[in-house]
Amino acid sequence: MIKKMAAGNWKMNGMLDSLKEIERLQAAHSNSKIDIVICPPAPLLLPARKKAPDLLIGAQDCHQEVSGAHTGDLSASLLKDIGAAAVIIGHSERRQAHAESSALIKEKATAALNAGLTAIICIGETLEQRQAEETLPVLKDQLEKSLPETATAQNTVVAYEPVWAIGTGLVAEPAQIGEAHRFCRAQITKQLGAKAANMRLLYGGSVKAANAAEIFKIDCVDGALVGGASLRFEDFSPIIEALETA
Ligand code: PEP
Repeated sequence: MIKKMAAGNWKMNGMLDSLKEIERLQAAHSNSKIDIVICPPAPLLLPARKKAPDLLIGAQDCHQEVSGAHTGDLSASLLKDIGAAAVIIGHSERRQAHAESSALIKEKATAALNAGLTAIICIGETLEQRQAEETLPVLKDQLEKSLPETATAQNTVVAYEPVWAIGTGLVAEPAQIGEAHRFCRAQITKQLGAKAANMRLLYGGSVKAANAAEIFKIDCVDGALVGGASLRFEDFSPIIEALETA
């Protein structure tokens, strides 16, 4: 059985006061059968961990080096040291705004795995690529170049996030999600073998309480990476419930 995962990416949102949302999630979902990961901005990681020891805390990025002269960056080992369980790597906002290549993402994912963190590696096509019918070749290329050889179903999660569906309110059609996820499952198994055959595949892109149940019915969807709707308990908790009962 694949353990499902609901991961919330707060991006550059939230203040100290937002920890109350995490506290409420912990109270409502402390015995959950799924993995619930909250990824707040870095300064909130440690207080979030303290407030919600039953939930998993994740970072939104890490540096590829173990330590050194990298002003402003965070090492995977520090994230592990303060109690993070996971780190998002290669979110499309970092691929675009920070020009992160799949090769760099692979290095960062390797650093995360070496530190004992679960790497949540993001992939996804742009609108132009989808319109040019390049979606599957783009996903293949990103998977081949971004996933470390040491990735397994236990230490790595792949999030399929069509770039055009992130933060836009546009959700991919169930058939589009199903096709992409089945393709990723086959490609990951071909690439990494049986150890990765059950790697969790999350869908991300405008997941909300209203569409979560439908998305979680789709073949090869093992959970969601949620942006905007993860910021408030009232929005995220129903998504978690939909996954718990899927
Ligand atoms: C994301 O940030 O990964 C994301 C999917 O955002 P949203 O849910 O807001 O589209």
